[in-house]
Amino acid sequence: MALPQFKRILLKLSGEALMGDHSFGISPQMIQYVADEIGSIVGLGVETAIVVGGGNIFRGIAASSYGMDRASADHMGMLATVINSLALQDALEKKDIQTRVQTAISMHEVAEPYILRRAVRHLEKGRVVIFAAGTGSPYFTTDTAAVLRAQEIHAEILLKATKVDGLYDSDPVENKDAEFVKNITYMEALERQLKVMDMTAISLAMDNQLPLVVFSLNNKGNIKNVVCGEDIGSRITN
Ligand code: UDP
Repeated sequence: MALPQFKRILLKLSGEALMGDHSFGISPQMIQYVADEIGSIVGLGVETAIVVGGGNIFRGIAASSYGMDRASADHMGMLATVINSLALQDALEKKDIQTRVQTAISMHEVAEPYILRRAVRHLEKGRVVIFAAGTGSPYFTTDTAAVLRAQEIHAEILLKATKVDGLYDSDPVENKDAEFVKNITYMEALERQLKVMDMTAISLAMDNQLPLVVFSLNNKGNIKNVVCGEDIGSRITN
């Protein structure tokens, strides 16, 4: 039986990952699938924290390009991540996986506020902790929130599960000759401006040597395989 290579990980899911084949919002089938995938690593005893994006519902930068004030638009984006986090919590708990949602913007009636020590305690007790509302500040992304939280909780690695199977030197949807990039340094990823994560997230990871793995969520078993040390997707390291 494959054994997990990490004790504590942070999994970043984009909002779009929850959309499935819908063009907006949350696909009930997809969220079940994601919950099963997460359950497979929780079952191995891996302490699992999650940051969920909100792009399937609302993106601040898109709204601001239509004239909305960026800070207000980003507040809406952060609220979208709370909607996704609650949906994921529900799907996980239906499968008897214990969870806690912690929000970076206080909303006590809905979820716990983000408290680092409490989050770590939940992880130690085997609960999945879902960090919602990004960093709590506008002008950031949930990728940056994921790197930040991963470092705060001392996760050994950040797994970014996406729709594509890793990093490419250009958009593989638009360019059929796009080349797959298996391993890359933080600095190279920054210099080449590969659009896998925003620059703020990558530089924060670089400052603290947090390894990043980018891989496809759509291949069943991938999360577990990455956690068990299979060389899947693309790696950004030193
Ligand atoms: N957001 C923010 N601050 C944060 C994280 C997110 O303002 O720390 C807002 C921002 O408007 C962003 C939206 O929340 O567009 C959704 O997050 P993101 O675009 O990172 O989601 P994803 O692309 O992962 O679905």
